[in-house]
Amino acid sequence: MKYIENIIKNLRKKIKLYEYFYNVLNVSLVSDYEYDILLKKLLKLEKKFSEYDSDISPTKQIGNNFSEEFKLRNHILPMLSLESVYKISNFYNFYNFIKKKINNDNLKFCCELKIDGVALNVLYKDKLLVHALTRGNGYSGENVTSNISVIKNLPKKLLGKNVPKVLEVRGEVFILKSDFLNLNKNLHNNFKKSFSNTRNIVSGILRRKKKSYIFNEKLFFIVYGVGFVHPNNYFKSHYFMLNKLRSFGFNISKYNNFCKKKCNVISFFKRSLLMKNKIDFDIDGIVIKLDSINLQKKIGYTNKFPKWAIAIKFNTKNILTKILNINFKVGRTGIITPVAKLFPINFSGVIVKNVSLYNKDNIKKLKINIGSYVLVKRSGNVIPKIVKVIYNKNCKNLKKIFFPKICPCCKSNLVLNKNKKLYVCMNGVFCNSQKKKLILHFFSKNGFNVIGIGPKTIEMLINKKMINTPLDMFKLSKKKLFSIKHFKKKTFVNIFNKLKKIKNIYFYNFLYALGIPEIGISVSKNISKKFNSIEEFLCCIRNNNFNKIVNIGIVISKNIYNFFIINNNVKYVLELSKTIKIIF
Ligand code: NAD
Repeated sequence: MKYIENIIKNLRKKIKLYEYFYNVLNVSLVSDYEYDILLKKLLKLEKKFSEYDSDISPTKQIGNNFSEEFKLRNHILPMLSLESVYKISNFYNFYNFIKKKINNDNLKFCCELKIDGVALNVLYKDKLLVHALTRGNGYSGENVTSNISVIKNLPKKLLGKNVPKVLEVRGEVFILKSDFLNLNKNLHNNFKKSFSNTRNIVSGILRRKKKSYIFNEKLFFIVYGVGFVHPNNYFKSHYFMLNKLRSFGFNISKYNNFCKKKCNVISFFKRSLLMKNKIDFDIDGIVIKLDSINLQKKIGYTNKFPKWAIAIKFNTKNILTKILNINFKVGRTGIITPVAKLFPINFSGVIVKNVSLYNKDNIKKLKINIGSYVLVKRSGNVIPKIVKVIYNKNCKNLKKIFFPKICPCCKSNLVLNKNKKLYVCMNGVFCNSQKKKLILHFFSKNGFNVIGIGPKTIEMLINKKMINTPLDMFKLSKKKLFSIKHFKKKTFVNIFNKLKKIKNIYFYNFLYALGIPEIGISVSKNISKKFNSIEEFLCCIRNNNFNKIVNIGIVISKNIYNFFIINNNVKYVLELSKTIKIIF
């Protein structure tokens, strides 16, 4: 039983971590689909082993990202989430569950698009807007009333006669895809951080601290329901309630569909799936709601969602898009990786614009061209991948991809690593693209192990032309460092002192730090056992004896050989060995 308890504990920990990244840092570590599968697994275990059930389990709580900038206020009625499934066939289970509960087979549904934005609860009293709250934890939300001027179509005063005296209106705030692209472009041009998806930008604008004209009136509010209503029995049908709300001055979705038959629900789902890429706002599924408000009350709620509604999310595992261009990136070890620039696609809130094509053979195998339409999959480890090319024959203006023969950065000749079918630039630190990554690697834990030398520091020093190779880091003077404007003195003093303290290094750490492809720390340790000095090591390579002396694979020895036949690399290693004593 301890075993089950541990599984449950670990699942909760994992899910809470994903929620923290998703809700607070706006980062998806896994796809929504994978997150929902984990949550379902946990729910199943908690039902089966109820002794481990807990009120603070993520299955019972609504994830939130309260910002300290806004005061919290209670919703009059809770504002819950929705149960999500990924197959339209699950609708039949939902249907049968309701049918059994109310003993009635004549069920009507209101089907709506599930807009991917931020939920907002707006309270009106005597037709006037009182406040606007985010969903928060479902019971209280952030009071963002001061920011709602950014929403184009949110009425401050309701229209018409017979408006309920108190009315909580719930809906989704969202941004048009076209506005999202323009705003991001604007932010990028002003050297500001852009947003990764439409939901993040909406959340950012609603919670902004400073007003900025570029965000004004860019958001829209579409109403999908109500919370507290006085008088209590004002609405009878969900679908007709939405239409009534329109007469009060709200915008409702023109895609809402009143479905009298099960088959109508299924066709609404199919139509919505086709519409997904055509409409100018993000949707991530459909929501099916039992239409009768009386029956809704009978069916009731769990702590987390109403039992009378269900979201059928689109399982966006494979998405069709087009290859716009190909770039060739140079990695730390000089490996040239072709990267396809895609027409941006949205995987459950994560925008994917680039995908690795791995190597020349993969391009050939998949028959990829510039202009090809491809199916992209976002697998468990969150790395997008091209699964196959579609419509290749019908595509016009396809351009063949030519793999470069020289490094796209330093123009040195590329070497083919036949075993792995990879093209490699062997110019090491003398290739600008590799420089930054190599310097980082050089000072990493298994290398020279200097804590505090991060990518930003290195990038700045390279940009200021203060360093070119890791060796230059040892030559930096305090005076030079302090001449840089806007830097944190303390950070540099720290780094400077740490570098000065390094007097010697083991050969295996030294060899690892050079960043030669395939030379990890254990290979380095193996090699280092055979040599007593740097000269002996270099001589062995020069005389092509390396393979005989060191028992390592042909690929690794070739990589070492390729690195040390470059004169610049040898000079650099010798100079380093004069600066820092190498221990054999
Ligand atoms: P949700 O987004 O799946 O569904 C509920 C929300 O849908 C409502 O609050 C409302 O804002 C919105 N909505 C849009 N159109 C609607 C309509 N017509 N009617 C009713 N509501 C409508 O649920 P959630 O609680 O906001 O978020 C949980 C979901 O977020 C999870 O199911 C998962 O998919 C995702 N998530 C992903 C990760 C990750 O790491 N990828 C982590 C945490 C959560």
